[in-house]
Amino acid sequence: MIFGRKKKNADKKDSAGEVEVPNLEIKASGIGKEEAVGLLIAARQLPGYPLAITLVANAINSRADRILIDFSAQGAVARYRVDGIWESLPAMDRPTADALLVVWKKVLGLNPAERKARQDGKFATNFRDIDWVISFMSTGVPSGERVLFTIERKKPVLKTLADLGMRDAVQESYKGMLNGNKGLVIISAPATHGLPTTWRISLENADKFVRDWVLIENKKNQEPEIINVTEYFYEDGGDTPEQLFDKVRLKQPDVYVLPSLINPQVVEAVLGQIHKEQKHMVTRTVAVDAVDALLQVLKGNPKHAKALLGIAQGVLNQRLIRRLCESCKQAYQPSPQLLQKLNLPAGRVPKLYKPTIPPPPDQRVDAKGNPIEIEICKKCNGRGYFGRMALFELLVVDDKVRKAVAQFIEKPDELRKFLKASGHSGFFEEGILACALGQTSLEEVQRVMQGK
Ligand SMILES: [Zn+2]
Repeated sequence: MIFGRKKKNADKKDSAGEVEVPNLEIKASGIGKEEAVGLLIAARQLPGYPLAITLVANAINSRADRILIDFSAQGAVARYRVDGIWESLPAMDRPTADALLVVWKKVLGLNPAERKARQDGKFATNFRDIDWVISFMSTGVPSGERVLFTIERKKPVLKTLADLGMRDAVQESYKGMLNGNKGLVIISAPATHGLPTTWRISLENADKFVRDWVLIENKKNQEPEIINVTEYFYEDGGDTPEQLFDKVRLKQPDVYVLPSLINPQVVEAVLGQIHKEQKHMVTRTVAVDAVDALLQVLKGNPKHAKALLGIAQGVLNQRLIRRLCESCKQAYQPSPQLLQKLNLPAGRVPKLYKPTIPPPPDQRVDAKGNPIEIEICKKCNGRGYFGRMALFELLVVDDKVRKAVAQFIEKPDELRKFLKASGHSGFFEEGILACALGQTSLEEVQRVMQGK
């Protein structure tokens, strides 16, 4: 096999021409059923078919959620994104890569000859008893062509805040904020750190049986529905956001969910509802930490910054971190100096853990240069990590914090220092706690803190 980390002898099989094609069914969307079947039958005869199917099947087997292929004049390189980390596959020559791409464009009803204009396709598959939805996109770039597959489960697996890795104490405080009154809660994360998932799970786990939750958003930004949140969209040619808000207001909802704080008029109208009618509000933003999120909301709404700060109750921020593989993580005894550096009391954390990362294949040799057999963990395939969790920073906004925010609004780092000094637990503290629980490693915390 050209892709994946196959057992030895796999290459021999390839050279003998007996390529085993994984059983990956393809149900292309957006084209008629009969046409799709015809395209699939024709594609099976193409020389690039086994590799095209193997590329995607191996990605799913590796738990990748993206496949990126960059075509240049010389050849093409495919990469898988596993737990947020890009892994390059061996380079392909152009004829091989082109043959593979033709197959995907054909089965998805796209034009294989088109290498410049953007083309989009989608298909559903059931693979290893799980339903997947896979999107395909190809577009010309200055260096050649770029192809992206996005691999998602049809049904989300993560359902609760605990599934995301939120500690009980943080959950309790956070749910209290979401279910509060007369307040503003901000949910945030840096780009590619899982904000859409945490947004959905936060809202799905809030108290929606006693209170009515409504969401107001531009139709253009419509996302998958959130259970028990009634959604209202404005669009060009219809009600303005303010008109829509006025109609929604008459239904007397309890909580306004605004993925974006649409415009000053809407902000003013919601603030009016919060002050007069004890309503509540939840919004979100892409931000590196809680301070960044709060300051973005305030500075993005200068006219109402003071009022928004006055009602702010809490800001959640999260970063995704890889979990150590439970099958191969290695315990070690931290030195007293290390514990001191990490601010962990001596004796409380007898063990920390690190990943098992085997040396690269070309270094698996003994002193004489003879190859040695190294056992690779079957669960994580030698990655040392398996799956991810979120580290949560939950900023509780009380009068003391409000005063500091007003004082340091132009000096975010001063604000961060103030919060740390007053005992606010940031990513570093949360990360060390996750290490002490054996969930992740110090190296991984460091990597995520540096934003890599
Ligand atoms: Zn492992």
